[in-house]
Amino acid sequence: MAILKSILNLLKLHRRSGKASGTGETRAVIIPREKNPIRKSDISQNAVRVLRVLNDAGYEAYLVGGGIRDLILGRHPKDFDVTTNATPEQVKRLFRNCRIIGRRFKIVHVVFAEEIIEVATFRGRGGDEDEEKGKRAERNGMLVRDNLYGTLEEDADRRDFTINSVYWSAKDGSLRDFHNGLRDMREGRIDIIGDPDRRYHEDPVRMLRAVRFAAKLGMTITERTDEPIYALSHLLDEIAPARLFEEVLKLFVYGHAVRSLEELRKHHLFKELFPAVDALLDGPDGGNYEKFLNEVCASTDKRIQGGKPVTATFMYASLMWPAFIAEFNRLRKAARGSQKGKSPAECAEDAMNTAIGEQCRHTAIPRVITTEIRELWTLEFELLRMDREKAAKIITMRRFRSALDFMLYRGRLDERLMKVYNWWNDFYESHLDLIPQRQPRRGPDGGRRGGRRPRSGVKRIFGGKQGN
Ligand code: ATP
Ligand code: MG
Repeated sequence: MAILKSILNLLKLHRRSGKASGTGETRAVIIPREKNPIRKSDISQNAVRVLRVLNDAGYEAYLVGGGIRDLILGRHPKDFDVTTNATPEQVKRLFRNCRIIGRRFKIVHVVFAEEIIEVATFRGRGGDEDEEKGKRAERNGMLVRDNLYGTLEEDADRRDFTINSVYWSAKDGSLRDFHNGLRDMREGRIDIIGDPDRRYHEDPVRMLRAVRFAAKLGMTITERTDEPIYALSHLLDEIAPARLFEEVLKLFVYGHAVRSLEELRKHHLFKELFPAVDALLDGPDGGNYEKFLNEVCASTDKRIQGGKPVTATFMYASLMWPAFIAEFNRLRKAARGSQKGKSPAECAEDAMNTAIGEQCRHTAIPRVITTEIRELWTLEFELLRMDREKAAKIITMRRFRSALDFMLYRGRLDERLMKVYNWWNDFYESHLDLIPQRQPRRGPDGGRRGGRRPRSGVKRIFGGKQGN
């Protein structure tokens, strides 16, 4: 860290004054190889290979984003992103192992055995993210579809935060810093590029990203970046629930869940993701729910630091638990007060449908995960019975360990549940011979652990250190 600081201090000396945007002149501060901390050996060899192939074919190509940012900050990068002036079609011609994804703004995934390197063409001024809103970008009344792709400088302007807009060239090992990203890394600032209000309107997910980077990197969101979030948080309504599902995972299963929850609540963003739970946190039982969520988040972070797997199912089951249990209690109370009241099982079933159904309108949870959440919650009721006759069967159930962990977190808030936890834990420990040997769990990429990101689709299990 000391070396890093001294290098970053050195960078100060090599700063050239930036020119206003749109001048066409290079505004980047260039830090040559010998004056920057990035070494080729720190970078995924696959990413270096992709850069090399692009450069050899005569294209410009750089590493940018989290990979470079995390290396400079002395962290283990989650993945490496490449950006180039080659179009997706041109990139595709250079690699056999690749596929083009995306609709309007296409990117190329170069697929290696252990990771995927994402290659994006420089984004131009028309390369905004509004494809998901089904709109075509307009500026001054003119359609800007035609300049989807742009120059390196334009690409740097389209990035979200200054710390994410530093480029590394494999050709000469130099860094290009267009927006004082290195200074902001040094000073621990999350600063949005351009006008915050406009940038959030273009893509409201940037508000979640600001909070995520603050949580992940322990940095402070600058005032101008922070200030509009409170008034604009509602814009997240426009975002596809499937994208928000993924964003929630990035916030909660990468080792900084406690700080993510804190930042989300502080910025009134949690209510956009989990409105029912947010309302309960502000209600009369809020303190208890908050303690429970903090407990789960803290232990999830600890598991990740310890290289243990955590699942999207467990995280979502925990985050939604207050909504489910409050609804269950409400239905039970109503049932007790009426002659033909629902049975507890019916109340549980209805409460699950309500909690999960409501939540999926905001973050689309894949069916396979909601099924597992139901199993987990159902087991919570089963555990309360402490039925010795059924116990031998219950401990062999796939969801049993998760349900027991879940009970432990609940038990920390309610002494009585600690008894339940201890009863089952003792029973389990003394009947280990009954537990079937299971195949080791597969990693988030279906078995291959490594740098590959949980990009899309159902990635339920996150194991190992996740770049934190
Ligand atoms: P990490 O991978 O550690 O979560 P990251 O910064 O690499 O962080 P990615 O989602 O992998 O995040 O995106 C890679 C880069 O693409 C970012 O660093 C940023 O430069 C750019 N980017 C991603 N999403 C946006 C967005 N919504 N608006 C503008 N730029 C974005
Ligand atoms: Mg990344």
